[in-house]
Amino acid sequence: MTHEHWPGEYAFCPRCGSRLDDAEVAGRTRKRCPACGWVHYRNPGVGAAVVVRDADGRLLLIRRGPTSTRPGYWAIPAGFVDYGEDVREAAARELREETGLVAEIGEPVWVQSNFHDPAKLTVGIWFEGTVTGGELRAGDDAVEVGWFRLDELPPLAFDTDAALIERLRDRSSPEDVRPPRGTGPGP
Ligand SMILES: [Zn+2]
Repeated sequence: MTHEHWPGEYAFCPRCGSRLDDAEVAGRTRKRCPACGWVHYRNPGVGAAVVVRDADGRLLLIRRGPTSTRPGYWAIPAGFVDYGEDVREAAARELREETGLVAEIGEPVWVQSNFHDPAKLTVGIWFEGTVTGGELRAGDDAVEVGWFRLDELPPLAFDTDAALIERLRDRSSPEDVRPPRGTGPGP
C-alpha cells in the first residue's frame, strides 16, 4: 500500500515556516522546503504492546477510554514509544500505566504495520510480558482491565490484535485445544 500523499501532510516547514513544495526525493514525492531544503521523510510511529497471559492462558486486555481511538473496544495494552525511549521500556511503561502491572518484557511475538489511521501510521511490536509485581487496576486511557479466554473475547479495537490472537490460538498448548473430531489419539 503506497500513497503519494497521506492525510495530515505538513503544509509549512517546521524548521523555518516557509510553505512546503512537492519534490521528488529518494524515489518518492515528498514535502520539501524551498527556503531551507528541509525534507519531510515521513515515518510511521512505533507502538509497543505487551502480551500477558495468566496461569489459565487467559489474555490481559484493556478497554479503551472515551478520549482514545475506538473507545469502548478492547485492546492488548500498548502505546507509542517516546523519542529517545527504549522500545522495551516503552512497552513496560504502557503496561504499567494502563493496567497497574509491572512486567519483565520478553521476546517479541508479533510485528505488524498498522494502517488503522491513515493520518498516523504505525509499526506495532508485541512483546511477551511476565508479571513481576504491581496491582491490577485500569489507568491512563484505559477504563477497564480484564482477563479473557482466547475463545471468549470481547469486541476488539484493532484487527492487528485480532491477527496476533489468532496466532496465539494456533499455538495454544494441546491441553487448551480439543483436537478436531476424528483426528488425534483421543480418549
Ligand atoms: Zn524551511
